[in-house]
Amino acid sequence: MTMIELTNLTKFYDTGELKVTGLDDISFKCDEGEMVSIMGHSGSGKSTYHLDGVDVASLNDDQLAKIRNAKLGFVFQSYNLLPKISALQNVALPLIYSGENHRQQRSMAALESVGIAVRAKHLPTEMSGGEKQRVAIARALINNPKVILADEPTGNLDTATSRSIMSLFTELHKKGITIVIVTHEEDIASYTQRTIYVRDGKIIEEKKR
Ligand code: ADP
Ligand code: MG
Repeated sequence: MTMIELTNLTKFYDTGELKVTGLDDISFKCDEGEMVSIMGHSGSGKSTYHLDGVDVASLNDDQLAKIRNAKLGFVFQSYNLLPKISALQNVALPLIYSGENHRQQRSMAALESVGIAVRAKHLPTEMSGGEKQRVAIARALINNPKVILADEPTGNLDTATSRSIMSLFTELHKKGITIVIVTHEEDIASYTQRTIYVRDGKIIEEKKR
């Protein structure tokens, strides 16, 4: 079953003086249960690519929460946690937006599932990058998403921490979640079953493992 499908998607950014091509006639399918990576150099269109059907980069928290509640989870390079509330409260945010109950227990369970329950009461500023990314993944998981979209999720992490985060995504994939990971590192892409290479807004190659 197809989970994500883009057909002949083109995106221009009109900056006034010049037109920048974000995506140039992209078609892409991802099946339910796949773990796929999208690779390319900086500026190649990777973020536009996976985010564009829903132009997430420009959305505020409210709008993001609505998309999350539509069974999609987002994970970003810079974690995007609110700095002044605890890990637990960050994870609970999507539940608050959707007005759900048992927020505390569910958030704690999500933190446990990514191995970071001991940091529940800590602020993001008191955590390492890897810990923050685990909290962000717990937040992405809180509404039981069918799909997780992760944009350079290891971009700010050292090699060992990157591997542990990729192992976590692999575990989530084994549980049946469809995962799309944007990266510019072969190492990271090698954790996925299929890699789509993007350059100048176009798909130039596809590799299966
Ligand atoms: P990547 O994630 O692969 O580094 P992006 O998808 O962010 O690349 O960007 C693709 C292209 O679109 C780049 O040339 C970038 O400069 C341009 N671009 C992205 N967002 C905007 C924007 N808001 N306004 C103008 N140009 C943009
Ligand atoms: Mg990007």
